[in-house]
Amino acid sequence: MLISTLHLLHSSEAATRSMPYYVHLNYANLFKIQHVRNAFPLKPVSFSRLVSYLECPGCALDQKPARRKKEPRHFTNIHQTALFGGRQPDPRLVGTLLHQIINLLHDNRGPLAEEQRSTLLACPDALADFLRSDVLKALQLAEKLKLAIFFDELSAYKNTLQRSVIEPLLRYQQELVLSGAKVFAISERFQFKLLSTSKTFAGHNDWGGEVAIVGEFDQIRLRNVGSELAPGGTPAIIEFKTGLGKKKIWDTLDLALEDGDTDDVSDGLLQPGMAHALQLAIYWMAFQTRWDLLEYVQLVKGRGEDVPMSLDQNLDLILYNLQDGCQYQLMFADQSRALLALTNCIFYLNWAMKSGYALQVPDHECSKTTLLAEVPQRIVQVGYEAISAEKCYELAKEAFLVFKDLVSWKKLDAST
Ligand SMILES: [Zn+2]
Repeated sequence: MLISTLHLLHSSEAATRSMPYYVHLNYANLFKIQHVRNAFPLKPVSFSRLVSYLECPGCALDQKPARRKKEPRHFTNIHQTALFGGRQPDPRLVGTLLHQIINLLHDNRGPLAEEQRSTLLACPDALADFLRSDVLKALQLAEKLKLAIFFDELSAYKNTLQRSVIEPLLRYQQELVLSGAKVFAISERFQFKLLSTSKTFAGHNDWGGEVAIVGEFDQIRLRNVGSELAPGGTPAIIEFKTGLGKKKIWDTLDLALEDGDTDDVSDGLLQPGMAHALQLAIYWMAFQTRWDLLEYVQLVKGRGEDVPMSLDQNLDLILYNLQDGCQYQLMFADQSRALLALTNCIFYLNWAMKSGYALQVPDHECSKTTLLAEVPQRIVQVGYEAISAEKCYELAKEAFLVFKDLVSWKKLDAST
């Protein structure tokens, strides 16, 4: 229970006081995690790349890396004949906009002064006024011109603006006030290295290998759960979504098995799916590099030290749907088995993906019309063993199914 004596590193501290690079955090010998300064020599992967490869290797490898659209240089009023007219505005842009405004409300280096931010977070009327008249200016000052242009267009439709921006943000504010949670960090990039241990893969001494993972936490909070053991609050990773998205292959499969009821033909998720679960479980790992270990390391004066860490730490994993204000917490039936399965899944996926194995999964609605007649069968070096890429991918899917059986979502009350 080493962790109980440690404290969290705030984002500003983390830059100057990060975990020493040679320290491995060792979790019950199941896996190790290392903080890395620059993941890029390690060819890092992101959570979304792993998930899309898991769903369909063919499509995932076919995807060209999306080129980021440049920020426009100047703010312009568009106001053409309705950019989105009677239709709904692009939900992804709405999501990005909401997320950006939330960041503005918490960003101590952003365009809003501290006093203004605390007023906006405390008073619904002030927030609503700000959203109607001042947020455009703030977005421009924050150099988010693309979003500013989008917002400007959106504000020509009063009802749409009310429904898709003002209401969700008022809900967000109220939830924060009622819960008494403290926002600790926003839009926080992470990179870490996952290492196997002697127990990661059954029957092997140590398969070695490593996977570097990069990503970003939307928000880290100290959540007041009324626990005497954590009077300052429990750390929580909050992942914002605007809507839950479409079902993936494995989510559809579940419903078919559950009741054989074919009435539900909707392809939208009604609660978070397994891709969300995978994302938050990976974030659980990433978060571990946020503990301040300096004192411990000075104490043991060790290099290459395996610091024993506890698997069950107070760390809540929460998905926050901005569209309706619903929150869902990821629960583990058996955390050590779930994290072991997750580790296995990540390693196997990474090996298969880097071998170039590109099977097109038959159930997947691939955008390619013709399936490849033959999938090149490369041999993958997995620890000391050489297996086919196909086998490697199958092992990843097996591990994923184990993971899936060990996690579930719990819907939270709005006030907690
Ligand atoms: Zn596909």
